[in-house]
Amino acid sequence: MRELNFKQQLTGVFGQPVAENPTQAMIEAAYRHHGLEWRYLTIEVAPKDLADAVRGFRAMGFAGGNLTIPHKVAAIEHLDGLTDATKKIEAVNCLFWRDGKLFGENTDGKGFVSSLREVADPAGKRVVILGAGGAARAIGVELALAGASEITIVNRDPQRGGELLKILTERTTARSRLVARQGDYRVPEGTDVVVNATSIGLFPDVEARVPLDVGTLTSNMVVADVIPNPPTTRFVRESRAKGCTVIDGLGMLVSQGVFGFKLWTGVEPEPHVMRQALEDVFAA
Ligand code: NDP
Repeated sequence: MRELNFKQQLTGVFGQPVAENPTQAMIEAAYRHHGLEWRYLTIEVAPKDLADAVRGFRAMGFAGGNLTIPHKVAAIEHLDGLTDATKKIEAVNCLFWRDGKLFGENTDGKGFVSSLREVADPAGKRVVILGAGGAARAIGVELALAGASEITIVNRDPQRGGELLKILTERTTARSRLVARQGDYRVPEGTDVVVNATSIGLFPDVEARVPLDVGTLTSNMVVADVIPNPPTTRFVRESRAKGCTVIDGLGMLVSQGVFGFKLWTGVEPEPHVMRQALEDVFAA
């Protein structure tokens, strides 16, 4: 007689709000593709319940997972350890087990760098990053660790921008500076990579304009947008029209998912299966 097993390996994401997070579609498509009896649950957790949720994660034997807004910093105190890059970034978005201990990793920046590598090597590049929030922080640190020579942070709030500048100057070797401003930023000649790491353009505010003079973009630049929904943002469209090499937010989303998937399952997933699942979700 066939042995029956109704117990699946559990993974998932904690966040609030979380209902619109598409990671489940991407990860479960890869589980199916690789024949893994695993689930990825989308779980709403309020900030006051985070400690209990992490205890539950341990008690119910979750094999790994993600954290999203607003838990990326607060979760750190509930974990047993952090990876080296995560100590610099001071935010975690991925939980995984190492020798029986629950570790925090930040796959946002690693995912970004890996999607960038498909079109350009970050080493020696001059980079402009719009934004100084969690995504910008992870991207800035990982680009610096990947050898970017110069990083300019452009942010509306000088205090938040200053915090990121401090992290980059004290913990990495990239030459970094801050431009704290409200109006349109003019991209200097000689810039290699421009990243929108703000939340501008995210659904439903899809026609919102990134504060940048697109007339200063040139065709030799790589332009990346972190916004996953919609994948083709106004900024992506305008940068393509200027002839730039463009990376959309799905590139980063898929690549960070690849890192998590490998940490949890030990299996190298097929990125195209994950990207297709997201494209199906956003096209529906
Ligand atoms: P945060 O809230 O931490 O930061 C938001 C940033 O956007 C801040 O720098 C903020 O500037 C800036 N910003 C927001 N609105 C405006 C505006 N109207 N004008 C100027 N600046 C503005 O968010 P996160 O960093 O966590 O996330 C940012 C985006 O990245 C989100 O849209 C998220 O969906 C996306 N993301 C994508 C991922 C992917 O895999 N593709 C992974 C992680 C995030 P200020 O400091 O001045 O307020």
